[in-house]
Amino acid sequence: MIKADLHVHSCLSPCAQITMVPSVISQVVKEKQMDVISITDHNGCHNLNSFAKKIKNRLIPGVELTSFEEVHVLAYFSSIEQALSLCNFVRSFLPKVNYDPEIMGYQIVVDEQDQFQRLEEDFLGIALQLSLTDLIEIVHSYDGIPVYAHIERRFGVLYQLGIFPRNDQVKLVEARSREGWAQAVKSGFVVLSNSDAHTPDEIGCRFTRLKVEDSNPKELFNILSMPSRERILSVWD
Ligand SMILES: [Zn+2]
Ligand SMILES: [Zn+2]
Repeated sequence: MIKADLHVHSCLSPCAQITMVPSVISQVVKEKQMDVISITDHNGCHNLNSFAKKIKNRLIPGVELTSFEEVHVLAYFSSIEQALSLCNFVRSFLPKVNYDPEIMGYQIVVDEQDQFQRLEEDFLGIALQLSLTDLIEIVHSYDGIPVYAHIERRFGVLYQLGIFPRNDQVKLVEARSREGWAQAVKSGFVVLSNSDAHTPDEIGCRFTRLKVEDSNPKELFNILSMPSRERILSVWD
């Protein structure tokens, strides 16, 4: 059984603490004995390579996308290249806004030594001009696994839309409470429980257990791509 926190923001996310850099996250992951994490920044992937170098075999490449309906969707990938290709594609659907990092939060690209590389100039904390249906199709077209994030909380699919849309392409959701978990299970979903950490101390405060011998991220990706409640266990399972 391995412990996975598959929703962690880095300093690229404008809402995350600037201390969410590779050395700090890697240290906390070790302290909290997480076997694997996913870095899931808002609408961007440009810290994935740096984290992969630091965290090595403990990283599933991911991103947290925002649809036009303001629904957050996590997506996991089997390689960083696939994640980066998707992020490059959706970038053209980011609306252009005046972005002031002092007010809206810094979006910092770092290397694996935590060294500042650049500030991301396009504001990432905003809805893409893509419908939820289109977004999920796009994730699939890059061989990604889409997951409705924090379903019953603000920007979650149930909170925003009141229902789970009829879409057989999504099999996994992330819940924040037993009530959300129960609703998801009743609707036939497999449930993840993750931290959605924006600060170091939040990492691993919630995690998902995966029944697997080998914690190789490729193997874990396969388990997530064919989810079953026997092998993927939230804190309520
Ligand atoms: Zn979110
Ligand atoms: Zn998040």
